[in-house]
Amino acid sequence: MIVGVLGAGQLARMIALAGYPLGVKFVFLDPSADACANSLGEHLLGAYDDPRLLAELADRSDVVTYEFENVPAHVAEFLASHTQVHPAPKALAVAQDRLIEKTFFNDIDIPTPAYSAVDSLESLELAMNTIGWPAIIKSRTMGYDGKGQSLLKTPDDLASAWALLHGVPAIVEAFVPFSREVSIIAARNVSGEMVFYPLSENVHRAGILRVSHRCANDPMQAQAEAYISSLMTALDYVGVLALELFEVNGQLIANEFAPRVHNSGHWTIEGAETSQFENHLRAILDLPLGATTAVGKTAMVNFIGGLPTTEELLAIPHAHLHLYDKEPRKGRKVAHATIRTETTEELNELVAQLSALADQVDDC
Ligand code: AMP
Repeated sequence: MIVGVLGAGQLARMIALAGYPLGVKFVFLDPSADACANSLGEHLLGAYDDPRLLAELADRSDVVTYEFENVPAHVAEFLASHTQVHPAPKALAVAQDRLIEKTFFNDIDIPTPAYSAVDSLESLELAMNTIGWPAIIKSRTMGYDGKGQSLLKTPDDLASAWALLHGVPAIVEAFVPFSREVSIIAARNVSGEMVFYPLSENVHRAGILRVSHRCANDPMQAQAEAYISSLMTALDYVGVLALELFEVNGQLIANEFAPRVHNSGHWTIEGAETSQFENHLRAILDLPLGATTAVGKTAMVNFIGGLPTTEELLAIPHAHLHLYDKEPRKGRKVAHATIRTETTEELNELVAQLSALADQVDDC
């Protein structure tokens, strides 16, 4: 089997690493000559919307998938008319636009923060009468890791926040005073079979994920599974999907979903019977899905902007290091490490050591 992947970054790299034991081969399309999955498959070097390369990708692949959601709609449609594409273009279209995404959540009874579409300073001022303070303004499209977002605390913030968006369509949403952020990752295969991972509890700083802990017997697990199951069914989804949620007053509220493998599920490589990467491949190849049962107690720490030495990292007991082979650059995820232990005390102690190393090199 040959899987084509749009994008050859770290997510594509980890998908490929999970595919080799299953005998899967890979073709990547990526505009960057030094994209970090390149060495794990054939690399078609060029733009994501180059018709010749897209035709070649479709031609050479039994199924095409992607590692990021901002694939232009016409590219996904073109691929889908030439080969199997999972997840289907519809999931991309919903995930790419925060307004369509939130409306879709509400239509299938998944609660979200109150929100309103805004396309001018006047409409923002008007929307704030119903949304209330504080609030967050976000560009509708092309936003990730907190990019294109501003916190609105007082009416004085409105003009500068709107100016920062350079006139792109946006949504303004109520700030959720959450007690924690969690995500659920699930997989659905072509036959409609679904599996769900235990929740991850996630800590973000400056809008970027820093640490994820795998939750045990979480009281919110059933509600999260119900939400993600409705979402995957409504989208007729195939592949791994991640749903990011806020917990507030014992309820879960949806923030956004990613139609792909997700950073908050990297712990599944060492911490689950089947990783999210392997289950993504099983799902899109319509193979039986693997068990998501947790193995040990796990947490993952991201390295952003820089790296300690490998010696320092591997000196931490039970640390499993994943270097992405990327040049360090401000705000760029260059590696993660997962700790797996038998006890929570040991886990917390070792995660603190790992986080201290990550904070030393963190540049934002
Ligand atoms: P996003 O790009 O929408 O995932 O936002 C990045 C991060 O900003 C989230 O993980 C939260 O920590 C924070 N955030 C986003 N939206 C809200 C909100 N409505 N209320 C509170 N915090 C938020």
